[in-house]
Amino acid sequence: MAGLNLKGIYKRYPGGVTAVGDFNLDIEDKEFIVLVGPSGCGKSTTLRMIAGLEDISEGELYIDDKLMNETPPKDRDIAMVFQNYALYPHMTVFDNMAFGLKLRKMPKEQIKQRVTEAARILDIEHLLDRKPKALSGGQRQRVALGRAIVREPKVFLMDEPLSNLDAKLRGQMRAEINKLHKRLQTTFIYVTHDQTEAMTMGSRIVVMKDGIIQQIDSPQVLYDNP
Ligand code: ADP
Ligand code: ADP
Repeated sequence: MAGLNLKGIYKRYPGGVTAVGDFNLDIEDKEFIVLVGPSGCGKSTTLRMIAGLEDISEGELYIDDKLMNETPPKDRDIAMVFQNYALYPHMTVFDNMAFGLKLRKMPKEQIKQRVTEAARILDIEHLLDRKPKALSGGQRQRVALGRAIVREPKVFLMDEPLSNLDAKLRGQMRAEINKLHKRLQTTFIYVTHDQTEAMTMGSRIVVMKDGIIQQIDSPQVLYDNP
């Protein structure tokens, strides 16, 4: 269960930039929502405020009807996947995926079970003993997704996770991420500057410009009224 309510949220960076202004959005539990807009329009900042990596200047963030403005990231039950997946180069795929769970002192058997299950879902079971440098870009991004999945978060945040991949692979991974959403049944919030990507993912698309929401619609409505 993880519905989100963003009420009148602003982000003002020191120095006077209003990166996000009056952001209002209700996200349903298990919804797949896409934030799209040109570079610099405030997508990343919005995501980082939801994750707790950036303070909210004004407004309220609720997750499951609980005010989260002051809740530290580790207590938000949220996982985030980034564009530069930053895997630990000296660790195997298994250990990269297990790392966060080990920090949380999860029992070894449970860690093993979660990592193997996530690896199976992402089709990287055969890569568990490899180091990141022996993986392709797409495989690395799967590991990054795996590292997030094993935590079984209530909310999944993705910040341009496919931007570093070539076009063909991006297409494949789009489909994979759609499948992943159906399978995990959790709330997904996906950020991209790529219109095509936005149109083929998620049930609602939030179009942002200059820190402001311009439009919120289904892909079909946006397709019919570009
Ligand atoms: P997007 O993700 O859509 O590319 P961002 O959220 O990264 O946009 O940035 C929104 C605006 O906030 C931009 O004008 C950017 O320059 C500014 N910004 C982002 N991070 C910071 C920061 N740490 N300090 C000051 N300004 C920032
Ligand atoms: P550490 O020495 O850092 O505690 P280990 O390398 O012993 O970590 O691994 C922790 C657990 O994960 C062990 O139970 C190990 O058997 C299991 N494990 C490690 N790599 C794999 C793998 N490729 N497939 C399945 N289980 C693995």
